[in-house]
Amino acid sequence: MYFAVNFSMNKLEHIGIAVANLEASEALFTRLLGVSPYKREVVESEHVITSFFQVGDVKIELLAATQESSTIAKFIEKKGEGLHHLAFEVDNLSDSLTEKCNQGFELIHTQPKPGADGKIIAFLHPKSTNSVLTELCQTVIK
Ligand code: ZN
Repeated sequence: MYFAVNFSMNKLEHIGIAVANLEASEALFTRLLGVSPYKREVVESEHVITSFFQVGDVKIELLAATQESSTIAKFIEKKGEGLHHLAFEVDNLSDSLTEKCNQGFELIHTQPKPGADGKIIAFLHPKSTNSVLTELCQTVIK
């Protein structure tokens, strides 16, 4: 079954990793990757604090909960720390969301919302993407 694809993903923008202790994981990933994080940013709406590493063209985004109600806290409780999501960059997030919905993907967010690192973001539900939580993001601030 093939669908006409009008809006392709530009690239894998970042990989999100859920961590319990941001300081400890920043130190671990600094050792692993050989680079230090270039920024930390709180995403209030998601109750998370993020830390970003640049590795070639791809970023690694560590995500830690700032409150127990955070989806990251719930994720770690259920599945433990580790790979959380893949984020693909698109040119126009609203158009891409409409397309993915029309293609039969289940959307967690039907509208773009503010994300970290100068992006607007939206997630597709993992039950429609082979259990891979998938984020679409569009750069709004360079
Ligand atoms: Zn992300």
